Amino acid sequence: MQKDHLLTRRRALLAGAVSLGAAGVAAAFVPGAGNSAAPAPPPAAGARAARRPLRPSEYRLRPLTGYGPPHTPRGRTPVRREPLLRVPGHGRTMVLSFDDGPDPRYTPHILDTLARYEVRAMFFVCGEMAAYNRDLLARMADEGHVVGNHTWSHPLLTRLRRARIRSEMERTSDIVEQAYGERPEWFRAPYGAWNRAAFQLGAELGMEPLAWTVDTLDWTEPGTRTIVERVEDGAAPGVVVLSHDAGGDRSQSVRALRAYLPELLDSGYHITVPRRQYV
Ligand SMILES: [Zn+2]
Repeated sequence: MQKDHLLTRRRALLAGAVSLGAAGVAAAFVPGAGNSAAPAPPPAAGARAARRPLRPSEYRLRPLTGYGPPHTPRGRTPVRREPLLRVPGHGRTMVLSFDDGPDPRYTPHILDTLARYEVRAMFFVCGEMAAYNRDLLARMADEGHVVGNHTWSHPLLTRLRRARIRSEMERTSDIVEQAYGERPEWFRAPYGAWNRAAFQLGAELGMEPLAWTVDTLDWTEPGTRTIVERVEDGAAPGVVVLSHDAGGDRSQSVRALRAYLPELLDSGYHITVPRRQYV
């Protein structure tokens, strides 16, 4: 019920979007950063209650699968040998991505800023964070953002056995589907540490690997102005920017976004999200 409701709203948001790009499985930008989307109906009270954050003891006991039919990808996802570093598009388009969340201390502020300027972004969430903050994933769905898979517990995948990597990825896709309404179509390896198993399992789960072009290194807390400068210095068509909305004190990341986002827009950049396209 909840999932159907979320899917309906998500589809309504994307209904007006026109996909660009070549045939086959390709990444394309979705123009119209939310400002042309149909207004979303208010969430049902029941759905809101069902998204109440769960205490660890609750979510660990709760089955993560078994919510309807298994996911059937609409097309075959290729097994890549390296992640995508940028996203093709036309003109001055850029993607902003935020990893490791959601975190109720920072993610709402980032969502507020994105909403103020009517732009969409990508959030590569960790399953264990998503489990505590389902309401934030539902908000991301409502506001047209793309949620990607960043594993359950943020391990270094290159040190894990294949079965554990699969579990890390699969559980996260399951909880994203429950809270966001769709399974993720993008995967990003923690620490940018990819291996063959991550590419193979990601493809099996219908996800494309996406890295980044510009690393703000915001997790080192270099100062708000430095984060802003790194984004603006790295700005170019097709660039994917990496920031974080969790994993420590991310108040600099929150403030930096408030500064660089209007500047990017004033410079003529279209901030948008990639969308997978199947033929
Ligand atoms: Zn990360």
